[in-house]
Parts: sequence; C-alpha cells; structure tokens
Amino acid sequence: MTYSIGIDLGGSKIALGLVSPQDEILARRRIDTDADAGLQSVIERIAREVAALNAELPAGVTAAAVGVGAPGPVDHISGDLLTLVNLPGISNTPFRRALSERLSLPVALDHDAKVAALGEFHFGAGQDRNSMIYIVIGTGVGAAIIYEGALLYGESNSAGESGHMTVDPNGHRCHCGSRGCLETYTAGPALSRHYASATGDVISGDEIARRARAGDESARRVFHDAGNALGIAIASLAMTLNIETFVIGGSVAQAGDLLLPPARESLKGYSFKAVSARVKVFASALGEDAPILGAAHMARTLRTS
Ligand SMILES: [Zn+2]
Repeated sequence: MTYSIGIDLGGSKIALGLVSPQDEILARRRIDTDADAGLQSVIERIAREVAALNAELPAGVTAAAVGVGAPGPVDHISGDLLTLVNLPGISNTPFRRALSERLSLPVALDHDAKVAALGEFHFGAGQDRNSMIYIVIGTGVGAAIIYEGALLYGESNSAGESGHMTVDPNGHRCHCGSRGCLETYTAGPALSRHYASATGDVISGDEIARRARAGDESARRVFHDAGNALGIAIASLAMTLNIETFVIGGSVAQAGDLLLPPARESLKGYSFKAVSARVKVFASALGEDAPILGAAHMARTLRTS
C-alpha cells in the first residue's frame, strides 16, 4: 500500500491532495492554473506542489504515483494525447508523458468527469454499488458511466457526453450545434439566461439559488425546469442502461435541494414505473474532493496493474 497524489486540473485552479493508503486526504495544495503561461509552466508548478506534498511525509517516503483529472477529452488508449479545451495555449499535448518525465513518477490521466465519478463510486455516494452514472453540472454538463465496476468509454471515446442529450427538441440552440441539450437547461450560464429572459435581471446561478430559497417564483421556476430536464435525461439513461444509481456533482449541484426534487419527480414521467421506482438520485457526497480521491485511486490502480 502506497501514498499517491490526486490532482484536479481545472481551467482556473489546480487542486492537489496527498492521499494515504487508507484513502484519506492528508494534505492539500491549491494554485492558479495560469494556462496562458504555457504547458511547461503548468508542469513546473505542479512539480513544485508535488514536492511540497511529499515533504509532508516521513523522511524517505514519497508518493508512488500521480493521478490527474483534466478538463477535456483524453485519449485513454495512448493515455497522453490531450486537448485541454478550457485551457487556452495548451492543445494536443502529450501531457501525461511530459508530467511523468518531469516527476519521474507514473502518471494516470483521464477526463475530469470520469475521475470524479471514480471518487464517488469508490468513496462517496456510489459506494457499494455495482454501477453508477455521475453527472457533473457547472459551466457545462458532463457525465461518466461506470458499468459493472468499469468506466465506459465507447467505441470512439465519447461515452458520457450526456450534457448534450436532447431533452427538448423545441429548446434553445446549443453551442454544440444540437438543440435543447440537457446543458441548455441546467448549466450555470443556462440558469442565468433563463432567469434573465423571465425577469430582465442578469445574475449568477448562486444568486438565482439564493432568490429561489427566498421565495422568488421566477428563480424557483428556473430550477424546476432545470430539474425537469435532468429527470428526462436520467430517465432515458436508466431505461437504456438499467443503471439505478445517479450522483449529481458540480457547482450547480450545490443547489441540490432545488434541483434534485423536481428531477426525481420528472423521471417518473419518462420511464417505466418498475425502472423509476428503483432509481436513486443522490447529490455528490464528496464535492470538490471527488476528483482528488478518484485521481489518487486511479494512480494507485496504475501502480498495481
Ligand atoms: Zn449541446
């Protein structure tokens, strides 16, 4: 059993955690991504933080591997080709190999939604389940499917693009080119747009949540419609895959008290009763720790495989 380091590489922040053999986060670091400074700068600053985390361990002991969740499509076959879509200045980069060479450590790399899903599946809301779907709702919407204990990638690596399932064929045009995607109802910018079209006020998703809890009917309607759309997506996924555990994470899911009750209600209207009766929709149990614990777990699995 070994220590490992989990890294959540975000568009604006990089969060790192030193994880014990007992899967506890012993120490944390958090730095700005500053992607404009370029790949080498990002790697050097990650290396500095990894060294700082290793310094927390007893003399002579270091983390044996590093896992990274990255905000963009990852070629899981080569494991090292990456387009970091939210990181300007970094694209089509052999990131895993470059980081592994700099650290002289094995590095595991995957898409951030998949990494967070592993965290929830092994240590959070999906513990003790055989299969689980994780949906992350923030600036965009992503998902990861764990089927009988293993992540699903699909034939060309696009499994889990559930944010772009159509939930309303008459809905808004989405930036992906389709129409009425789940993302156009539930992502933070979508909540702001829907609230602005009803009231004229342009405010953040957090502020809409605050107003909804204070009784603002337009704000409540925005979350109700978002939850309704989420329920339609969950119903379709549950009917297709017969997976019964859904975990909802991401910044918008912090308003789970507003989002999840209408989702649980609506999924009943779009699936067999026998299916919907068994579906459980949970809020993330780990929050921002999910990608760190998932990445560290992935790193440890890499070590032992
Ligand atoms: Zn779309």
